[in-house]
Amino acid sequence: MAKTITRDVTCPSCGKGNAVKVYIGINTAEDPQLKASVKDGSLFVWECLHCGARHLTRSQLLYHDPDERLMVWLLPENFLSPQQEASVKATLEKHFINPENGLEGYSLRRVASIGDLIEKVNLQDAGLDDVVMEMAKWVTRNEVADKDRAHAEEILRAPFRFYRMDGPDNEIQLSFPLSGAMQVVNIGFNVYEDCRGIVQRNPSMKPQPGFVRVDADWIARFLQ
Ligand SMILES: [Zn+2]
Repeated sequence: MAKTITRDVTCPSCGKGNAVKVYIGINTAEDPQLKASVKDGSLFVWECLHCGARHLTRSQLLYHDPDERLMVWLLPENFLSPQQEASVKATLEKHFINPENGLEGYSLRRVASIGDLIEKVNLQDAGLDDVVMEMAKWVTRNEVADKDRAHAEEILRAPFRFYRMDGPDNEIQLSFPLSGAMQVVNIGFNVYEDCRGIVQRNPSMKPQPGFVRVDADWIARFLQ
């Protein structure tokens, strides 16, 4: 069963109070339709009863896909105090790393935004590894910056995101914001394969047990 809580939230548009249902835990095997709602973002949208404005929820969420052995813990920045965060993390890891629970072999990931969670789910659906993809994004970001010297600084700071894999050659589409507009860059599957080879040859690039943030900062530690 999905876990929800009801939270009293003030509408940022009209200032009136709402009782908003917020998901804090979902299991995609039990509720496959909730996976679709994560992917299109609708799981996180609430509508004000008074003015109809739509806003995004801000909450923790434990996303569990038992078939894919994937667990993603969404925890927005500064949502919990450092002590609360450490305590929740310890509780989760005690449960999910404990071999007695039959949960070994899981990918445990931590993300700080809804967009990051959606990207993890999209990667899983495409059968792609997120460590390899972070490296492919790193390589691509540097190449794009090299070709567009005028915007190089902005490009090197931009968050690149896996969007989808498409076509007979498994072309990979990444998106990134530039000067207020979303850009799409296509990379060949060979870029991903090259990165996969490097990751496989470097055991230190295997995430540690526990809820790890595999993101641009994480991969940069190995590449700079
Ligand atoms: Zn409102």
